[in-house]
Amino acid sequence: MPPVSRPYIGRFAPSPSGPLHDGSLVAAMASFLDARAHQGAWLLRMEDIDTPRVVPGADHVIMRQLQSLGMQWDGEPVWQSLRLDGYQAAFDALRRQGLVYGCCCSRQALAGMPVYPGTCRHGLLPGQTARSWRVRVPEGVVRFVDRWQGPQEQDLQKEVGDFVIKRADGLWAYQLAVVVDDAHQGITDVVRGVDLLDSTARQLQLAAYLGYGAPRHMHTPLILDKLGRKLSKQNHAPALDLADPLATLNRAWRALGRAPLAASTTDEFWGRAIEKWASIQGPALVVQQAL
Ligand code: GLU
Repeated sequence: MPPVSRPYIGRFAPSPSGPLHDGSLVAAMASFLDARAHQGAWLLRMEDIDTPRVVPGADHVIMRQLQSLGMQWDGEPVWQSLRLDGYQAAFDALRRQGLVYGCCCSRQALAGMPVYPGTCRHGLLPGQTARSWRVRVPEGVVRFVDRWQGPQEQDLQKEVGDFVIKRADGLWAYQLAVVVDDAHQGITDVVRGVDLLDSTARQLQLAAYLGYGAPRHMHTPLILDKLGRKLSKQNHAPALDLADPLATLNRAWRALGRAPLAASTTDEFWGRAIEKWASIQGPALVVQQAL
């Protein structure tokens, strides 16, 4: 494993929109293993700012699920709903730099457009009012090396466009909150599902605008359902089976490209899994083993 020059701080950041399922466990497992293999901290953050999607009590269900699988986080969990002042401060800092503008475009007006065309970039016309708030993206390509997926690049202007940091319903956008909190919690390593790979360049850009350091990234495979869709709460993935924790852990471990581990307790499982994870030298091998 390459030497890390700063103490490792990782995190798992579930959205409490329901209990964890086999798919979310893969991301939780990879972030937990990576933190423990680096003798690092593993923090828990409840991403509960998308209030229409939050299911009351799901945060505590998730915590119980993690604990019953032997995944104990360090310190107190953070709830994003208690961190709104931090998002406002970051928004104000971006605004002071002239990087934020109000946008009057409705979702309907932008339907079918994968890239925001910059309609409101040069100001609203008289009579128009801002619904959401966007951050300007610069020209050029954002590059980073993902520890699982390899070298990545994205041209934010061409592939994404200026993106929303405060939504039309007044809620803070995930992209802003995640960057502010990763910096606030001192996260050195973001390990999460590959469905978020496409968000990373936006997040690196925001971090750069806000003067934060960039964490390292590792995006892990997803578990797909029979229709080839990401296993997710929206697709009604069943909650983790805690009646047989070792089978549940081994399913996630296999999704990470590993052969099942023989263990009779969860502690034994983690001891072996952490040792194996730590013995992997560099991203190339991780990729080879996973495919
Ligand atoms: N809350 C996000 C989710 O559950 C994950 C955010 C992240 O890991 O950056 O999909």
